[in-house]
Amino acid sequence: MSQDNSNSPHNLADRSQRIRELGYDYCAQDKIRGLACNLCGSTQHTLLTHIDRYGYKATGAACSACGLVFLNPVMTRSAYGDFYSKTYRPLVSAYHNRLINGETIQAEQVEYARSLAEFIKPWVKERHTGTFLDIGGSTGVVAVELAKIFSIKATVLDPAADELDWASKFGMETISGFLEDYNPEGRKFDLVILCQTIDHLLDASNSLHKIRSLLGPDGLFFVDIVDFRAAYLRQASIEGAIKIDHPYYFTQETVEAMLERTGFSVLQKSYAADHLHIGYICATKEAAPEALPKPGVVREFFREIRYIQNTKS
Ligand SMILES: [Zn+2]
Repeated sequence: MSQDNSNSPHNLADRSQRIRELGYDYCAQDKIRGLACNLCGSTQHTLLTHIDRYGYKATGAACSACGLVFLNPVMTRSAYGDFYSKTYRPLVSAYHNRLINGETIQAEQVEYARSLAEFIKPWVKERHTGTFLDIGGSTGVVAVELAKIFSIKATVLDPAADELDWASKFGMETISGFLEDYNPEGRKFDLVILCQTIDHLLDASNSLHKIRSLLGPDGLFFVDIVDFRAAYLRQASIEGAIKIDHPYYFTQETVEAMLERTGFSVLQKSYAADHLHIGYICATKEAAPEALPKPGVVREFFREIRYIQNTKS
């Protein structure tokens, strides 16, 4: 959530050293090469980067047709499972040079939940929301806050069993596993939230389709993205906005097209106070499978990438 702007040469050398000391070998991890864009299905990609913000040899590509950015190749699900259980939190801690784990993020998450509640309140009240599912809800801090604020029953779904233990202790219903494997057996929810998670998914489009199927006709969906454009503009670096923890890098245009395609209409969007994230509260609607960012927007995006890559900050 936070951004470390201490980019002096000395600090950067320390940072590289801290990351090296973790001994994580990204090159050795199992990977798959995506042939088709997850948004539009095109197989024409443009390679944007050859290294990520940690210094790993991660290649970020953009779909030449729609501008969706993604890692290609990308680690397999089992490689990501391993990464999340052992490396993710220590890596982010090494990058920011402070301890970041399930415990330290709790205060930050309470704040996040309160501002999320404020944003979605008008629609939650209007629709008499009674049940909700937090996908990728980790320790359940956000779910607990929302359950309290709205007096609704919360369920947390997350693949990290140790983080879910916290959610259980808070009295939440927990489901251990990935969204892709969850079998709801016809169960529906009034509200589904996907907080700071969509960029971590391995198949964003399928996941949104699945979420759509979990909502009743009056259902609400909240999702937020790290705005890729905001991420590279603030650092004046494309590489600085790429990180192995995120298979996807959405812009307003690509996420909005994906929402349209998977049957969501945006009720309102919100530029978060950090100027980096963008949140969307959505209702359900008929899917528009042809929705795409406008060609002019895609052309402009590639022009801007080249401009950033060749302009000193
Ligand atoms: Zn595409």
